[in-house]
Amino acid sequence: MSLEKFDVVVAGTGAVGMSTALWAQKSGLKVAICDPQPAGSGASYGVACTISTYACVPINSPTIFKSLPALLFSKNSPLSFDFLFGLKNMGWMLSFLSNCRRSKVEHITQSLGELLAHTDEGLDPLIAECGAEDLFVQNGCLYVWSTKAGYDAAQAGNDMRLKLGIEFEVLEPHEILELEPSLKMPMYRGVLFKGARHTVDPQAYVTRMYDRFIELGGVAISSTINEVLPNTDAVTVQLDHNRTLHSDHVVVAAGAHSKSIQGSGAETLPLGVELGYHVAFKDHAEKVSRPVGWAEAGLYATPTAHGLRIAGTVEINSITAPSNTARLDYLRERAKQMFGELDGDQDIWRGCRPTMPDSLPVIGHSRGSDRIFNAFGHQHIGLTLSGITGRILTDLIQNKEPVANLSAFSDKRFKK
Ligand SMILES: Cc1cc2nc3c(=O)[nH]c(=O)nc-3n(C[C@H](O)[C@H](O)[C@H](O)COP(=O)(O)OP(=O)(O)OC[C@H]3O[C@@H](n4cnc5c(N)ncnc54)[C@H](O)[C@@H]3O)c2cc1C
Repeated sequence: MSLEKFDVVVAGTGAVGMSTALWAQKSGLKVAICDPQPAGSGASYGVACTISTYACVPINSPTIFKSLPALLFSKNSPLSFDFLFGLKNMGWMLSFLSNCRRSKVEHITQSLGELLAHTDEGLDPLIAECGAEDLFVQNGCLYVWSTKAGYDAAQAGNDMRLKLGIEFEVLEPHEILELEPSLKMPMYRGVLFKGARHTVDPQAYVTRMYDRFIELGGVAISSTINEVLPNTDAVTVQLDHNRTLHSDHVVVAAGAHSKSIQGSGAETLPLGVELGYHVAFKDHAEKVSRPVGWAEAGLYATPTAHGLRIAGTVEINSITAPSNTARLDYLRERAKQMFGELDGDQDIWRGCRPTMPDSLPVIGHSRGSDRIFNAFGHQHIGLTLSGITGRILTDLIQNKEPVANLSAFSDKRFKK
């Protein structure tokens, strides 16, 4: 069965896909979204909720070669690694490590910093369009280091932030406690990103974008996109149950699953996955008044509409691996060190960050076809970059000059 023809079909209704669809729909294009799951129920659901315009420093780091043994083998490590999976994916691992060289990290940081500088231009018009102002709070974001060694290791990254014009205030332990009196973990220094925002409910935000998209006449189809077949006139989009769509353009925004869409070009790219977790303590949202990132523990504690969300850690494992209960125990133990015993109900969650080995997203024309556009690989900052990604793609589809330089984000940086 063939349905009507669209200007744009978007694969995926996470923060990135929904932002793209809403930008395109409000620009007057005829748009369909396809996803077998509800909007905002993938990686975008469980985030630490930060709009982290300061997060230009990637997890690729020249210090990784020194810190890797401790990260891999300590029970108290924010990193967990499945060795069998690592062996099977040696290409991605080696490419990740080669992107830990100082010159590469500087390039990544610079490129992410320049894109992040456009965050608000992408996000604010969408928040206004779907009436989500009540879901965002501007009260800064705090990083805390427990040790001098940890803080010193972060200096190179913080220096790069300053060079990029990202402002922050360095805090002594007593100043941290003045801001967040409930914190109990050891403290050496803190950094406050004063103007930073967070959302109290990421899924509600994506759902409001979805609802507004439908109100504006957008079409939602509950199906996987299995394959895309671009030709000179249009793209044929293969859905479940032998259904097809026709569209002038297709945007691949299926997060960590983007490689599964055959014919898009994404299936040829080294898209990896970093699993992450959260535990939400439903009765304790008031413990902090802004997101607090505990640097050595690799997590944030964020006040949300559904409680105190302890979110983070990186697990290198298969996208289909069962949830690792040790990672949830790690978050609970760290939460206890941060705040003391937290009683009451908890929600738990596991999700997949889409991550390229150089930690740069893939945004722009696909090398496979001018009709296909990439919008995935946003690693730890996909909620933050969702709005600007959608705005850029809408400009590209309409043959307009995008607001940001995209050269670092092209898929042409990877071998065919
Ligand atoms: C623990 C944790 C904390 C995080 N904290 C933050 C944070 O504080 N701030 C921040 O900016 N980012 C954060 N991130 C990163 C963020 O979650 C991701 O970068 C972002 O959600 C990616 O969005 P997305 O729309 O690309 O993917 P997703 O939200 O995963 O959406 C992809 C969608 O595609 C659909 N799909 C899959 N395959 C197909 C197909 N073949 N056809 C159609 N649809 C398909 C899926 O069902 C899903 O709905 C965090 C991640 C984790 C794991």
